[in-house]
Amino acid sequence: MDWASLLVECKENVRRQITPLLKGVSSKGPNLGVGAGGDPIKQADLAAEKAIIDTLTSHDVSFILISEESGIRQYGENPKRNYVTVDPIDGTTNLTRGIPFYATSIAVSSKPTMNSVHTALVADLFHETTYTAEKGKGAHRNGERIFPSNETSLEDAVIGLDLNTYKVNEIAPKVTKLIGQTKHIRHLGANALELCYVADGTTDAFIDIRGKLRATDTAAAWLIIKEAGGKITHPDGTQLNSKLDPKERVNFVASGNAKLHKTILNLIRA
Ligand SMILES: [Mg+2]
Repeated sequence: MDWASLLVECKENVRRQITPLLKGVSSKGPNLGVGAGGDPIKQADLAAEKAIIDTLTSHDVSFILISEESGIRQYGENPKRNYVTVDPIDGTTNLTRGIPFYATSIAVSSKPTMNSVHTALVADLFHETTYTAEKGKGAHRNGERIFPSNETSLEDAVIGLDLNTYKVNEIAPKVTKLIGQTKHIRHLGANALELCYVADGTTDAFIDIRGKLRATDTAAAWLIIKEAGGKITHPDGTQLNSKLDPKERVNFVASGNAKLHKTILNLIRA
């Protein structure tokens, strides 16, 4: 089974399906999606998910789908060997507001666990930038091999940090020291894509310790970071692995290199 090509075909169908919805968004102004009839947020997510399922079933692929939208569902006659974990649209709020940073994320694994993901794709649907990885074959952006940054200075590093949580009083103290020593903190609003930015050295690190991000949303980017040569671990430095289940949540620190990774872990532990 050529999963790498299948995922590219899925991504192209996702783009085709959501393009008409995007036109609706831009013509009706930035507030569409908040309480608007027909819920375009759900529409985009569901259209993207359907595009992925339709692509795979049109090739008679048997698989178990693990998705935020429809939970766990089986397709085909012999699905047990292929788990397809999707976040149909990562960064839905960006999409509905016209902020050009959102992606589709698809990971294929032999078991429902992060460390058995063998083929992954995260596609920036606005900029037509596609990140892919296959286990043991490196990571690529639009077909070209990518590597993370070797920036080790906290002061010069560009660091992504997601603080979107009602538990901010709990989380903020853990990152105060880090923020104090960093000049360039970012959060762009699509975590899978932000992890890919670490994989190709666009940024130097990305941190999400809210206890809120779905493991399913991280599955593809996890392999892309690993294959690019970056680091991704739990905040305590242990290996990040997780069940792939829509209910499962993850905390992690991802960095371009071991030295910067260690510096960040020390600061958020302290
Ligand atoms: Mg999503």
